[in-house]
Amino acid sequence: MARNGLLIQYDWCTGCHSCEVACKQEHNFSEGMVGIKVDEVVSTGPDKVYVDYMPYTTRFCDLCADRTKAGEQPACVKHCQATCITYGPITELAKLMEKQPRSSIFAPK
Ligand code: SF4
Ligand code: SF4
Repeated sequence: MARNGLLIQYDWCTGCHSCEVACKQEHNFSEGMVGIKVDEVVSTGPDKVYVDYMPYTTRFCDLCADRTKAGEQPACVKHCQATCITYGPITELAKLMEKQPRSSIFAPK
């Protein structure tokens, strides 16, 4: 059976944190528990400062098993207005990733 995961095209990420909120609400996580986290990475180039937002999943991501079983998209996918996050079979995500620099695939257990 195909293994599913998330492709996060962080080049498009605006750092809005909606994915974190949606995930937390969906799972009713307690304080400190998160399924996805967005870090801000600041780096200084020769002529300007760059800010990159880096979303990544944690050990608590279950790929929204209840939602996907019911045919819905994971909560983070649904609420990301920048459409950075794609859910699907990892083999398909890898094909998309070939065309999208600055992206990562996450394959939670
Ligand atoms: S797939 Fe579901 S559990 Fe995983 S990060 Fe997204 S919202 Fe959270
Ligand atoms: S919801 Fe989308 S744009 Fe907003 S922080 Fe998460 S991945 Fe980035």
